[in-house]
Amino acid sequence: MNFLNNLDLLSVAVAIAGIGILGFSVYFRNRNSDTNNNFFVFSLFAILWSVLNYISYQVTNPLVGIFIIRLVLIAALWMAYSLFEFFTVFPKEKVLENRRKNFFIVSYVFIVSLITFSPVTVKDISTLTPAGTVATFTKGMGIFLFGMTVLFFILAGIFNLLKKTLKTNGNERKQYMYILCGFVVTFFLLVVFNFVFPAVLNNARYVPLGALFILPLIVCTFYAIQSGFLNIKVFSTSILIFILSIATFLEIIFSTGLILIIFRTSIFLLVLSFGIFLIKNVVKEVEQREKIEKQEKEMEIINTKLGAANERLKELDKQKSEFIGFASHQLRSPLTAIKGYASLVLEGDYGEISEDLRHAAQIIFESANTLVTVVADYLNVSSIELGQMKYDFQVFNLMDLAKSVIEELKQNVEKKGLKLEFECDASKTYFVKADREKIKQVFMNIIDNSAKYTPKGGVKVSLAKNSFGKILFAVKDTGIGISKNTIPKLFAKFIRAKNANETNIRGTGLGLFIAKEIITAHEGRIWVESEGEGKGSQFYVELNEKKS
Ligand code: ADP
Repeated sequence: MNFLNNLDLLSVAVAIAGIGILGFSVYFRNRNSDTNNNFFVFSLFAILWSVLNYISYQVTNPLVGIFIIRLVLIAALWMAYSLFEFFTVFPKEKVLENRRKNFFIVSYVFIVSLITFSPVTVKDISTLTPAGTVATFTKGMGIFLFGMTVLFFILAGIFNLLKKTLKTNGNERKQYMYILCGFVVTFFLLVVFNFVFPAVLNNARYVPLGALFILPLIVCTFYAIQSGFLNIKVFSTSILIFILSIATFLEIIFSTGLILIIFRTSIFLLVLSFGIFLIKNVVKEVEQREKIEKQEKEMEIINTKLGAANERLKELDKQKSEFIGFASHQLRSPLTAIKGYASLVLEGDYGEISEDLRHAAQIIFESANTLVTVVADYLNVSSIELGQMKYDFQVFNLMDLAKSVIEELKQNVEKKGLKLEFECDASKTYFVKADREKIKQVFMNIIDNSAKYTPKGGVKVSLAKNSFGKILFAVKDTGIGISKNTIPKLFAKFIRAKNANETNIRGTGLGLFIAKEIITAHEGRIWVESEGEGKGSQFYVELNEKKS
């Protein structure tokens, strides 16, 4: 082999390695994409054609020569067919397969391959170069079928591509333009060097370099498929593998002796397969990173959407609280009027009334009374939610307040047949700095609850203080008790225990929620203890003592 031959071989090897690396990296980048797979198949046929094309100009044995030339033509046929398929599919990830049509075309290409392989197409070697290699061959009729088929595939493919190009614009059109440019360059090179030179100028010198002429199409198409994706990591790995393959290949060319050639060829193959494996992994890693980045972006979008939805919900919640506040406020005056007039009727301000009328007036009065508490509860909740609860802090003795609350409730509790006791060391003082009305509301609610949920027995109220500056108000009853599961939820809005309905049907489940808000605003604590259902309950309120 002379130096020129070595140079030829080197350039063909560079081109083949290039085609292979680009083909494989496209394939590994997305194995599920029809476009990528078709490109991969095209690059495989291009490699096959390039290798055979090169070899066909090296063999000196006419019999082997004719055999290889037939193979070159067949490879060219399949290459043209795969190019047509690729152009038709590009840039779709998935195309609907028409099995019948595919079967028909593939069978046709098979038949043309068989005809191309027979003497009908390539009859004989007609001329040989001075070196004894094949220069031209005698063509049979079959060459027309071959030529027309190849031409058809190329023209039909480019027609499909042009049609799609015209329908696109912007970035997508750019992709098509890359391929078209690559195609024009490759087509031009092939026509000039593989057709004009040998046929017109009688110079077949450049025909073996076919692989080099295909490279522009492959490179441009690769770039288009990746749609500008040229990850620096994948790119530099590919270049590195490319250089390594070339270097090891060069060593084969310049080696003398069969053993050395075999040894260096194995090294070359090893480098190539390892290289492809490496590229595959780098592509995978890059893809994973891209996927994660995409997911992160999606999460960001979801978060912003959630944030907006949350804001909207807050706004709606605010509107709801405002509405409840407004509605409750509007209900208050007519209710006070109903309650007032019912009480006047009961007290005889409108003269003597019959027992039936008294009974009716009593029901009106009690119902209006219940409604007043319910409305007051809703008003309170609305103020809490709007952050508009106002507190008027002043220093007072909690014992006085507890006593007056007991006084107020005693009659009603005892009417139910329950005992109401109060226990407190009167020699001590129980000063707190608090909103008297609000604390009264809490105490009333707790004692009232105990009376409501205690069918028999009694309610014991106590007030005590410890040496840590805390005052403890406790209400113990012998009532229906509270189950362990309900206790943690009891101070939430609208929570009513299952057993509550059996004893006291009327109730909003708001009293304790409001009580908790009030006590928390006083930096105090409120909690409940119970051994379980039917075993009574103990409610506790702890406030800070105000030392004078
Ligand atoms: P309401 O009494 O209007 O339902 P509250 O917020 O005052 O609302 O009380 C919430 C729930 O706590 C009641 O429905 C009841 O199930 C339970 N509860 C409150 N106090 C007692 C008690 N002393 N004994 C048993 N259960 C109680």
